[in-house]
Amino acid sequence: MLYYSTNHQIIPVSLKDAVISGLAPDGGLYMPVELPRIDASWFDAIELLSFREIALDVALAFLGEDVPAGVISEIVNDSFDFPVPLPPVQDSIYSLELYHGPTMAFKDFGARFMSRLMSYLYRDEDRDLNVVVATSGDTGSAVAAGFHNVEGINVFVLFPRGQVSRLQQKQITTWEGNIHAIEVDGTFDDCQKLAKQLLGDRELNAGFPVTSANSINIGRLIPQSFYYFYAYSKLKQSGLPLVFSVPSGNFGNLTGGLMARAAGLPVHRFIASTNINDVFAKFIDSGIYSPAPSLQTISSAMDVGDPSNFARISDMMEGDIDKFKKQISSYSFTDNATREAIAEIHNENGYIMDPHGAVAFLGARKYLRESNDRVNVVFLETAHPAKFPEIMKTAIDDPGSIPPQLKAVLNKKEKYHRAGNDLGELRSYILETNNPESL
Ligand SMILES: *Cc1c(COP(=O)(O)O)cnc(C)c1O
Repeated sequence: MLYYSTNHQIIPVSLKDAVISGLAPDGGLYMPVELPRIDASWFDAIELLSFREIALDVALAFLGEDVPAGVISEIVNDSFDFPVPLPPVQDSIYSLELYHGPTMAFKDFGARFMSRLMSYLYRDEDRDLNVVVATSGDTGSAVAAGFHNVEGINVFVLFPRGQVSRLQQKQITTWEGNIHAIEVDGTFDDCQKLAKQLLGDRELNAGFPVTSANSINIGRLIPQSFYYFYAYSKLKQSGLPLVFSVPSGNFGNLTGGLMARAAGLPVHRFIASTNINDVFAKFIDSGIYSPAPSLQTISSAMDVGDPSNFARISDMMEGDIDKFKKQISSYSFTDNATREAIAEIHNENGYIMDPHGAVAFLGARKYLRESNDRVNVVFLETAHPAKFPEIMKTAIDDPGSIPPQLKAVLNKKEKYHRAGNDLGELRSYILETNNPESL
């Protein structure tokens, strides 16, 4: 399978080139030239398959031409060794809990799969690969966990000063060995911009290859389609159409869903649920995409003013606003509405949603109220509520206990490099890390 750039200025490249370079040389994002089409008969017995079996079949459809089946199977089994529950939360509304991986956020799906795929594709190279990742909280730790101790790979995690939770910061900064945390004096958007610049830095790349682990990397998006198929398998017996509400920031999660749909998954509609960073909802209303500086909210992993995957989604919709509208609705919600939803559901049945999942829940409910459709709506619960204890306490009295994975990290010692919002500084740090003798 070949991968083209959403800027259309290069000849399509191999899977290896797409995953290893992350961003295309023309600044575009890679997409499969042709999305695979899964045979309709496969869905006949999908309800009998486990998560891993579904993931394997879908992964084979996307990657089978380029990676041996045995390797794909190993990557799938290693990556997805945790449960994916789908409890009902309200009438016709289900929570797809994507937070049972090691860092307790849905980023584990993409990061674990991508890191294993990347190290397979990079196995014959002799120079270290430098993985740069900008994080607003969850990506950094998931990528760090995915790549920790992988031979031949250095990871640089850029996080915005003072804008990740205490626990998230611990999860980013308490690694040893090949994981390097960098606190940037800037916003998440600044971190993202710096990561892109490092990727595009030809001189640096000539000596020290740099790649990205952000959702601009196609290697992360493919696994983010798997759980859409799985949710379908669990609710198929009801016979009702299926709607997904996706809490969105950079829109990588939604892109995974759209890829699943394009590959044949019967999805009635997607709801792109956002906090007040609402450029996408405005776009769906007006047909005009105008990026804005990001605003801080309690669902901080979604504080994105210029979603990086917009280019991919736009290509899938052939730039046609009517196609967007046919498949995707978008709603935005305030922090107050989000807190109220957390409190309301907790009072109603004891279920605890994190602020990101709560935004998606709100989108699910709004859709049901407005459409009156007889459907099942699955909202994606993307982080464990215990990752945000301070915020949860502003919504409910008892935010529940902290799971052991998170507790363990609280006692570890932090270690990180401080940097300005400055490309040169980061460049030197990467050079020094690759070449300690030069100091
Ligand atoms: C990253 C993240 C999101 C947003 O996902 P995108 O793919 O960037 O749209 C939502 N919730 C949580 C908890 C996240 O970590």
